[in-house]
Amino acid sequence: MYRIIILLFIVLPYGLKAQHKKLDAAIARHIDEAVEMRETIHANPELSNREFETAKMVASYLKKCGIEVQTQVAHTGVVGILKGKKDGPVVALRADMDALPIKEDTDLPFISTKKAKYNGKMVPVAHACGHDIHTSVLLGTAAVLADMRNELKGTVKFIFQPAEEGAPSGENGGAKMMIQEGVLEHPKPDVIFGLHTLPEMEVGKIGYVMGPGFAAVNSLNIKIKGLQAHGARPHQSVDPIVVASEVVLALQTIRSRQLNPTEASVITIGMIHGGVRRNIIPGEVDLKGTVRTYNPDLRKDIEHRIERLLKGITSAYGADYEMKFYYGSPALQNDIELTKQMIPTFERVLGEENAIEIPPTTASEDFARYAEKIPAIFYRLGTLKPGTVSGGLHATNFRADNSSVEVGIRTMSNLVMDYLEGR
Ligand SMILES: [Zn+2]
Ligand SMILES: [Zn+2]
Repeated sequence: MYRIIILLFIVLPYGLKAQHKKLDAAIARHIDEAVEMRETIHANPELSNREFETAKMVASYLKKCGIEVQTQVAHTGVVGILKGKKDGPVVALRADMDALPIKEDTDLPFISTKKAKYNGKMVPVAHACGHDIHTSVLLGTAAVLADMRNELKGTVKFIFQPAEEGAPSGENGGAKMMIQEGVLEHPKPDVIFGLHTLPEMEVGKIGYVMGPGFAAVNSLNIKIKGLQAHGARPHQSVDPIVVASEVVLALQTIRSRQLNPTEASVITIGMIHGGVRRNIIPGEVDLKGTVRTYNPDLRKDIEHRIERLLKGITSAYGADYEMKFYYGSPALQNDIELTKQMIPTFERVLGEENAIEIPPTTASEDFARYAEKIPAIFYRLGTLKPGTVSGGLHATNFRADNSSVEVGIRTMSNLVMDYLEGR
């Protein structure tokens, strides 16, 4: 009996080490290809729901790796299924593929010079959110895990999602549509992992958040309806510009005076449009804004508070209003137990000092839709190479370094192997 236990102690760590070595060897075999794909995707960015060439490349690479492939999921989405030799849980991994209508301004030799139609106009397009990194990391991870299929104790589902940045107006898309089209069924994943570039963090580090990592996004449209008149005869008007000014200031008191200050939220009016001439008091003013929250109960609460202020202020001035409050992606909830379970993997792969707990961001991510359904970890990948400069996400000079691709593949593939081993 003792002998068996001692033998187990010797064999188990040896088995683990051998498996990690095999994984490292597979990563070494595929890393150049993954970086090459990153450069190709970066140089050929495509807008949301128009990821035709990217999807083609993804599907053909997955097939080359011997992975079962479904295409045209939620327009241009691609799903790959890799069954291990042994039975076990199902792990989903997600990457997003779309780029942004932004003119790139970086020193990368594979800089984008592409243009595409956006809202009826030709505009420059760039991967200014790092989705080229996410896609190539997941392709590299697929190649690595396909090499390891004889040792995989379960199934891996690779989700390549379109339109994370939002579908063009009048179209559906993104994570919500992927789920509607059954990406979380047949087989149903037990957990899902995803990553996002973090341009402020150096390559070699990752950041994880315990609990909500990204905020819920809500859109707000307000129309203030007054009465038009000559600019010199305000007594004949109900001036919606004055009413709107008061509304904008009053909305800020929701955050500062009405809500618990320890609970984070953002209310921003980003657009205000009214009037055509200096000497005409217009009949209407349009306001558009965004509301960000982490606590799901706060979304409805803020909606009611906005409407209460609007109602009170407009009626005090004899004006009227219309308001629409749209619920976008929910807050992205990282599963705390799962995160605790997988932190040792990050620490082993990158070194303890390089797996860092970071605060949440007020940006939003539609990965939250998957995290609503199954336990999830969405971690941030450091993409800043020391000595280079990068703007923030969605900036013209956002610059993610090629060297971050390997860190992404190493962390992703080790997360999968360790999770399937029950570690
Ligand atoms: Zn983005
Ligand atoms: Zn993004």
